[in-house]
Amino acid sequence: MSVSVHISIDMEGIAGVVHSDQANQKGHDYEMMRKAMTLEANAAIEGSFDAGANIVVVNDSHGSMRNLLPYMLDQRAELISGSPKPLGMMQGVENSPDISMCIGYHSRPGEKGILSHTIRGSSVVQHFFINDKPSSEFEINAGIAGYYNVPIGMIAGDNDIVNDAKNLVPNIIGSSVKETINKFSAKNLSGNDAFNLIKKDSHEAVLKHKEFKPIKYSGTVKMGIEFSSDLMADVVSMMPGIKRISRQTISYESKDYIEAWKCMYSAILLAGIPY
Ligand SMILES: [Zn+2]
Repeated sequence: MSVSVHISIDMEGIAGVVHSDQANQKGHDYEMMRKAMTLEANAAIEGSFDAGANIVVVNDSHGSMRNLLPYMLDQRAELISGSPKPLGMMQGVENSPDISMCIGYHSRPGEKGILSHTIRGSSVVQHFFINDKPSSEFEINAGIAGYYNVPIGMIAGDNDIVNDAKNLVPNIIGSSVKETINKFSAKNLSGNDAFNLIKKDSHEAVLKHKEFKPIKYSGTVKMGIEFSSDLMADVVSMMPGIKRISRQTISYESKDYIEAWKCMYSAILLAGIPY
């Protein structure tokens, strides 16, 4: 059996992370928590290889996407790092691996969960919509993976995003590494317990990879963004095909999920430039 595994790893959902001071490159505790992030990646890589995977590609999916420590990362895995990249947090799924896993994930804005936000954080994006439904990064990314026929078989993060992911993918394996108290506080598993849980669950996900179904969108998909300021929507509305819905909200429709995604991602990058 030959199994290829894709891992998308964010930082807000890593055990021990509860504040942006730990997840922001300029933050005081960032160097410590990027090591924790690398160790959670290693747990998923180890679990995957132990279960028979022969290729594991890890996509660094947080902020600058230059967080994982390349020489500390399990040397059997390939690392995609840096930003921007066309598929963002899901770069690498375009090669249609057998399964993708989301580690270190978090809730969408307005939902309970540690450091909840979508894509660029509340300074740029208030809400991201798929077919008018406010959507989490997990939901957006499940659609990107599904476009390439890749199922997401495992998610790790706080208990809120793990429960939320189960609504979209009922049989997904969920590794809750912390319980949210509020946006900036949680009861965390110890590092070792988090690594063991992720290793066990990624192992199981690889063994069961044929049981998970990709999330597919058929027909026209409508994506939208509510920006943090009307100036951002003013700038983005200059792009052809973008519809202005309200002072701060735009949308775009396409029969192709990835075309809609790329339009939204370019819009976010454009809106994030200081003017
Ligand atoms: Zn992040």
